[in-house]
Amino acid sequence: MLERLTDAHCHLSGGSPDSLPPPGVEACAACACFAGEWGDLDGISRASVKKVYGIHPDAGISALDDVGFAEEQIFSALLPELDRRLASADAVGEIGLDARIAGRVPLEMQKRVFAAQLEMARARGLPAVIHCVGGWGAMCEILRGFFSAGSGAGFLIHAASCSAEVAASLEKLGAYFSFGVRELSSRRGAECAARVGADRIMMETDGGCSAASLENAAASLAAVRSASAAEIADAAFENFRSFYSK
Ligand SMILES: [Zn+2]
Repeated sequence: MLERLTDAHCHLSGGSPDSLPPPGVEACAACACFAGEWGDLDGISRASVKKVYGIHPDAGISALDDVGFAEEQIFSALLPELDRRLASADAVGEIGLDARIAGRVPLEMQKRVFAAQLEMARARGLPAVIHCVGGWGAMCEILRGFFSAGSGAGFLIHAASCSAEVAASLEKLGAYFSFGVRELSSRRGAECAARVGADRIMMETDGGCSAASLENAAASLAAVRSASAAEIADAAFENFRSFYSK
């Protein structure tokens, strides 16, 4: 069994926040990215659980919603409420762009909501946890406006499965990357995981935090990086600590 396991990105997934981190896991970052979930994180105050609040690009908008009205609600009510919560947060996330849902939530609107949250993160000196599906060109352009190597509190590309080329240019902006078993079983995710620096990698479950899932991710990372699973877990532990350092 591996020591020093960390989960860079998990969700409460119906479980109790009191049970985090589970046995065998040293620390985790629990993400509440829909307004209805924010209250679930409020009561947590343990150094082993990092609190990540944000508005996901999906934003809970259905195909039947008036998107103009929804955006107005986000800017007038949800973002101010999020900003209050950030006073006790360790990071903003998961936030970003998702090309799969552009028919329901227009990409231009996603960009505005994303940029507003990056601005809030910068104002509070918090790192950002990034979700990106498709739209990597737009993502890189927005991130370049907020980050340069070594500046600010940094950002983490969660469920990283961008091309090795995109990963290299994000790394120049100071990116961290986290991988779960799902990404590592895809060709692109495995290539990305093989390419990024050892001082940039983390592991994640993107669901209910569990030692078993993190051990599987460490084993897959070890295979693509020609390292041992223990070396991967150690590197991820150090990177977790420096990223979630607030
Ligand atoms: Zn997630």
